[in-house]
Amino acid sequence: MITEIIDKEKQSKLNPEEVLKELMAGNQRFTQAKMHERDYSSQIEKTKGGQWPQAVVLSCIDSRVPVETVFDQGVGDIFVARVAGNFENTDILGSMEYSCKVAGSKLVMVLGHEGCGAVKAACDHVELGNITHLLKNIEPAVEATKTDGERSSKNDSFVADVVENNVKLSIERIREKSPILKEMEKNGEIKIVGGVYSITTGKVTLL
Ligand SMILES: [Zn+2]
Repeated sequence: MITEIIDKEKQSKLNPEEVLKELMAGNQRFTQAKMHERDYSSQIEKTKGGQWPQAVVLSCIDSRVPVETVFDQGVGDIFVARVAGNFENTDILGSMEYSCKVAGSKLVMVLGHEGCGAVKAACDHVELGNITHLLKNIEPAVEATKTDGERSSKNDSFVADVVENNVKLSIERIREKSPILKEMEKNGEIKIVGGVYSITTGKVTLL
């Protein structure tokens, strides 16, 4: 039973490579049904005075991608920013800068996922209320994706490629729009990585 949390000292000894390894190991525990048992009451008690998370994950809102669970992480372990289609915007960039520069996280992960409804809607150029505006953020990935087949959500391999491109382009824009994160990455203080979660297997694959 895990009662430990990441405290300031523990966080300061972590490096981006180790944090990435731990998240991927956590994902393996998740897919192999070997997840840590946690004493959440104890973790709540120990984190009430502050937080020193090891990573920030930018994920889709999809209910099939419960981020802490798929990486087998507990209370106080990771920050999670979520928006349909897992793209960055000013507020999310600010959240990531807070996570890394202020709160000491060592890893930024952009996590797309298989069968993403937001990506599918962007592929189909859906227009509906505020969704129209949201989908504009995914359009560059749709435009950047080549296919010999149909350019719509009916084409599974096209959708899968747009999911990947959307993660890659989000990472490029994070570096472009956040001099803080770019500098931290250059100094080796953080790593910025992308992954895709399979809703079929529960596995995260790094890009
Ligand atoms: Zn999604």
